[in-house]
Amino acid sequence: MLIDEHGFYGEYGGAYIPEMLHQPVEELKKAFDSYKEDKTFEAEYLQLLKDYVGRPTPLYKAENLSTKYEAEIYLKREDLNHTGAHKINNSIGQVLLAKRMNKKRIIAETGAGQHGVATATACALMGLECKVFMGEMDIKRQAPNVSRMKMLGAEVIPASSGSKTLKDATNEAIRYWINNPDTFYVIGSVVGPHPYPQIVAHFQSIISKEMKQQFKAIQRQPEVIIACVGGGSNAVGAFYHYLNDPVKLLIAEGGGKGLDSGLSAATSVLGTDGIIHGSKTILMQDENGQITEPYSISAGLDYPGIGPLHAHLIKYQRVESFSITDEEALTAAQQLAKMEGIIPALESAHALATLEKVDLKNKCVVINLSGRGDKDLETYISNIS
Ligand SMILES: *Cc1c(COP(=O)(O)O)cnc(C)c1O
Repeated sequence: MLIDEHGFYGEYGGAYIPEMLHQPVEELKKAFDSYKEDKTFEAEYLQLLKDYVGRPTPLYKAENLSTKYEAEIYLKREDLNHTGAHKINNSIGQVLLAKRMNKKRIIAETGAGQHGVATATACALMGLECKVFMGEMDIKRQAPNVSRMKMLGAEVIPASSGSKTLKDATNEAIRYWINNPDTFYVIGSVVGPHPYPQIVAHFQSIISKEMKQQFKAIQRQPEVIIACVGGGSNAVGAFYHYLNDPVKLLIAEGGGKGLDSGLSAATSVLGTDGIIHGSKTILMQDENGQITEPYSISAGLDYPGIGPLHAHLIKYQRVESFSITDEEALTAAQQLAKMEGIIPALESAHALATLEKVDLKNKCVVINLSGRGDKDLETYISNIS
């Protein structure tokens, strides 16, 4: 989809990696190219999604929200997946791939802890050793997920450089991989060097594949699809099979305290072209190319880059982006809890807040509810009066 043989989506993407990683990345590319066409691999993956993860996730018509916004609003319930978010779709796929490649050890980076938990879960299931790199700051604000990873048998390694968040955890994971190239690195979003964005998009595309079937069954067509974006994996998953359809695609970024506040993670607005974590994309940086520390109340959204496919879609205005402040996300979360009895992840609350920004009157809309809010309860309780 849109990607050339060197892993470029238009001008974005590619694999800007140190010499030491050429061989492991090439090995990964070969393995993925062969297994993505392999019927046995596909069958095993889909079986696990069904029996273990609990897919297909429901497409739920939120009647109360629909009445309020005078639209037909559906929620794609990724929050109901085992481990509470869409991340498991990708972790199961990549760990299965690692197993086929006879890898014994898995590493991963994590922000909100969801990808760490999903990967630790897949490793426990498939009997592989698991090390998860996590920023010290995120370890503090996402304590329940740290405990879950430990309970699942993973080792959590604190990243103490920079802002001590996701980008720093990613740097540490890459450094570990360079020194231990026999390890399989499970990347949690559509970022990193080619072929990672392609691999993650492939495994997350199950979301829009199901949506198509589910809408067909009720004889409806979505006109607008909304998803939040950290790196962009749940959004790519929700958009994938609709990219060539006449459907509006909206992304919600972590606007933090506001675009001019210096405390934001709205990469599509504040970012410029550059290279981060092995791929050419849009990222937040100063005039000297130093990465700007991102900020969002939501640990899953404070990443200074965005996946190369999104950079491409933004450039050609195939997607429209909205930056949602912390306040707006908190309000949207509270609204969903009170009106529909669903406590969303803070990340997903950003997608929900977009309802306030666009006129959706009489439109058929899907919001990808990327995760559940259990991990964010403390933040909700201390910020909502
Ligand atoms: C990690 C996470 C995100 C952000 O990651 P994407 O790759 O942009 O999807 C969004 N929602 C939840 C619940 C997450 O855990």
